[in-house]
Amino acid sequence: MAIAETKVDMEALNKAIDEVFYGQLDSTMLYYFQSCVNCKACEAACPFTPTSLHYSPVNKAEVSRELYRYRFSVWGKTIGRFIGGSKKYLSLEEAETMVDYVWHCTNCGACMFVCPMAIDSGAMIDLLKQVAFKAGMVPKIYRDIADLEISGKYWEIDFFKNSWNSLISKIKDAIGKEVPLDKKGSEVLFYTSIYEALAYPDVLVKVAKILDMLNKDWTFMSKPLGIRPPIGLVIGDKEGAAEVMQRVYSYFTDISPKYVMLTAGGFEYPSLRYTMHETFKVKPKYEVVHVTELLAKWYENKEFEIEPLDETITWHDPCQLGRRGGVFEAPRVLMKALSKKFKELPSHGVNSFCCSRGGGGCGVPSMVENMAKTLGIPVSDDDKKFLDSTLEPLIKAGKIKVNEINKIKAKEVLTGCPVCIESIGFSIDYYHASSKVNHIVDILADRIKVNKK
Ligand code: SF4
Ligand code: SF4
Repeated sequence: MAIAETKVDMEALNKAIDEVFYGQLDSTMLYYFQSCVNCKACEAACPFTPTSLHYSPVNKAEVSRELYRYRFSVWGKTIGRFIGGSKKYLSLEEAETMVDYVWHCTNCGACMFVCPMAIDSGAMIDLLKQVAFKAGMVPKIYRDIADLEISGKYWEIDFFKNSWNSLISKIKDAIGKEVPLDKKGSEVLFYTSIYEALAYPDVLVKVAKILDMLNKDWTFMSKPLGIRPPIGLVIGDKEGAAEVMQRVYSYFTDISPKYVMLTAGGFEYPSLRYTMHETFKVKPKYEVVHVTELLAKWYENKEFEIEPLDETITWHDPCQLGRRGGVFEAPRVLMKALSKKFKELPSHGVNSFCCSRGGGGCGVPSMVENMAKTLGIPVSDDDKKFLDSTLEPLIKAGKIKVNEINKIKAKEVLTGCPVCIESIGFSIDYYHASSKVNHIVDILADRIKVNKK
């Protein structure tokens, strides 16, 4: 896999292994390193193993284990150093394999739920991603996009500014009044990113319409807090992510709503709900929720009714909203109200099969390339090679997902994450399936009937 145009700096790589890898080994991680019984149960769950068994969770995590053994296990300190399986540092070739591995794991968490020892291989692979980032071995296209977010210069890009302002105008037209912007102390801060404003502006307009119809005290952002903050977490840049999260946290604290409501259930959800507050060791006064959580709560409080559809619909659990975020019940409350013909996909809940973009790390390659071009980021041959390498897992995992959708004959697949919509939509087109995939709000908004008090 082509990663960077610059040559690998082995000194930087060794330093990254010392600082990042050994610096972050806590008791949970040590348990993950020590407890594998090599049963390979994790293989079937991983969206990357249909591409090659080479990418099985336990195989990818083995790079971490080799580094761990060298300093922590008796075997690794003795005979392991001579017969293999124990390494102080990595050779150039091993480092390149490591980078290939980390971009074939999106931290979807599926391996942990099938592992008899509850080992989170994704967490071990994420450590390697941080090593790769620190050593400068990150796909340049992602580093450039993340840098734009961290610097705040994304807001100087006319395309972004115009898209955001156009979204505010569309919301204004839809609700027939000025959009409440940056209003302090509102019940709901309607939070979204530039990425979503580009991916599904109509969904965002519908969310605003629902808030207005339900007469909620809400506010929207006069400008976004990032492209898809914090992108740094996806590329292994913890420090960059912390800078962006500081900006986000300051804004949330300043606005001080009761709820920060996200429409995206991708990596933003666990990042902004949990990681951000854990990083700063703060207990927020607001609650970060996905839009389905608030809508299900208001529906159960009988603030509105839902006019049902007469068709088979299904819910795809986004890995980060479900497995990593714990949100399973709320969308199902809404789905069951939306259709009596709601059916679960064969794999769902904690065992939902990921579309291979689980942590949002790599979107559909053509989309990432187009975005880079729009931003004026040059797309090099190395970048193109990297993006192309992400296509095969999408096609292979997409086949499994499409087969599941076809099996239950679902007409609509609803979900709550922009990347899931994009990747499942790609697979539906690729395999000529007849279903559609949408954000749940897209369908729900038109079927809500408000109960007048
Ligand atoms: S399922 Fe768990 S114990 Fe089995 S091989 Fe995978 S990580 Fe090891
Ligand atoms: S976290 Fe997901 S993508 Fe990564 S190894 Fe585990 S199952 Fe595979």
